[in-house]
Amino acid sequence: MPPGPADLLLHNAKFITVGRHCPIAGAVAVRDGRIIATGESREALRSLAGPETVIEDLCGRTVIPGIIDSHNHIVAAGRTMDGVMLFDARNMNDVKQLVARRASRAAPGEWVQGAGWIESQFDEHRPPTRWELDEAAPDNPVILNRLFGGSVCNSKALAAAGISSRTPDPPVGTIVRDVNTGEPDGYLRDGAEVMVRDIIPKGSSQDIVAEYKRHARRALAEYVRWGITSVIDPGSDPYAMRAYQEIYLEGELVPRVNMMPVWWGLRGSEDPYVPVKAAAMGVRTRFGDTHLSIGALKMAIDGGLGSKTAMMYEPWLDGTHATVPPRLDMSRLKEYFDEAHRAGWSVGIHTIGDKAQDIAVETFAEVMSACPRDDVRHNIVHGYFPSPRALGLMKRHNIGVSVQPGFIWVEGDIYYEALPEKRLWDYKPLKTYLDTGIIAAANSDMTSAHYNPFLGMCAAVTRKTARGRVMGEDQRLSVEEMLPLFTLEGARLSFEEDVKGSIEAGKFADLAVLSDDITAVEADRIKDLTVLATYIGGRKVYDARES
Ligand SMILES: [Zn+2]
Repeated sequence: MPPGPADLLLHNAKFITVGRHCPIAGAVAVRDGRIIATGESREALRSLAGPETVIEDLCGRTVIPGIIDSHNHIVAAGRTMDGVMLFDARNMNDVKQLVARRASRAAPGEWVQGAGWIESQFDEHRPPTRWELDEAAPDNPVILNRLFGGSVCNSKALAAAGISSRTPDPPVGTIVRDVNTGEPDGYLRDGAEVMVRDIIPKGSSQDIVAEYKRHARRALAEYVRWGITSVIDPGSDPYAMRAYQEIYLEGELVPRVNMMPVWWGLRGSEDPYVPVKAAAMGVRTRFGDTHLSIGALKMAIDGGLGSKTAMMYEPWLDGTHATVPPRLDMSRLKEYFDEAHRAGWSVGIHTIGDKAQDIAVETFAEVMSACPRDDVRHNIVHGYFPSPRALGLMKRHNIGVSVQPGFIWVEGDIYYEALPEKRLWDYKPLKTYLDTGIIAAANSDMTSAHYNPFLGMCAAVTRKTARGRVMGEDQRLSVEEMLPLFTLEGARLSFEEDVKGSIEAGKFADLAVLSDDITAVEADRIKDLTVLATYIGGRKVYDARES
């Protein structure tokens, strides 16, 4: 560290450092955006304070490393924030009100889009219908994404896509119909929603980039209010990458962003949206700098658990098996991994079912055995039900896992309809992953769950669903075990553990000042924590007192 005084000295706080040497510090000295020293108190760092040093008293608050949301669909998040966000809707009335409120700001005919619902959150325990949405927005087409595996549309949206009672189901997915009349009821399931999604006018590629920039700015500005200082975007298409780059060049990219370019497979098949296969882009994982960089390639195999579209060995509770085809040509999976791996790409692959995870991990292992290298970090995205064999191979080949504990909270209740309770005890088994020595990062997967990081943290510690069921007590983590998953381990996924993820000398001063001491509040109350201030590279980018 070059000599000279600190620019900033933060003191009178409980810094939970997530560092190896000193778990708790009382003061932190920062120069040029990086932490130069931590100490017990302001007094201990006295020698680093010069006449120009800004000294800030944090009034005894608890500070954690800036939160790394290592799986967050930023553009879709911004689009949802600009549209209808349904996470907190408790019944059809709430849905209608939220849709009506948004439609009242829209021009006639303008699309109203939203997300964040699953039937288990509603008192009625079913999706909204087209007719309910028609009441709320008679003059606008409406599409509302389920957390995963479908969307519900109003009549105007169905008509725009030419969907009527005579329309057959598409090759992938189901047009759900009213049992009495055979009329589509508005719910388009497991891929059928693409029929509507694809006809929403997008404009020129310049228009798309401009729209993406607007959404990205909105989402990222919201995230700093929650102490999120870094985000990994899993499945950046070329427009998103252009949008981030432009915001960055304009000097306005506030949280750090790591982009995971989308590989064919995220949308189902070879995708006209993705002009070149990402592995052939020339640049590869780790291109960029500490503010905007390229991470792993994003691939996907199967669907979800709540939609019963995961690739599992055993049938669902009702005796059925998933019928949705895999999102990648499985006969070419090894070829795809091999191509990416040899070109220097890490791969993050979406697998939900135990069978899908086994296939992915075995294929990774084969490719890595044939061509060992330590400059890539492959990971399993979601990883709900790892088999003992998958765990062993993940450990041996250093394959990480990217987990969304918040799903336990937002959609855990619906899982009880898909699988026997006993099976759910091992759902997203964070404790098992940690005990096996596997790199495990936790994140929100906004828009499949709310971006509030404290919901996920609370769920990792309590394993509680929204309706209060505890899903596998054995997998509960202590706060001390949980915090690195939302900070340091996320940095590992993007090879940035040397520059961020903990409060230690040499790292960026990315920090979140909390409303309460996360180690002292009752576990159930972790989800109610808020953020008082956020720092990125030593700069205060959010102060609750000023907003
Ligand atoms: Zn996702």
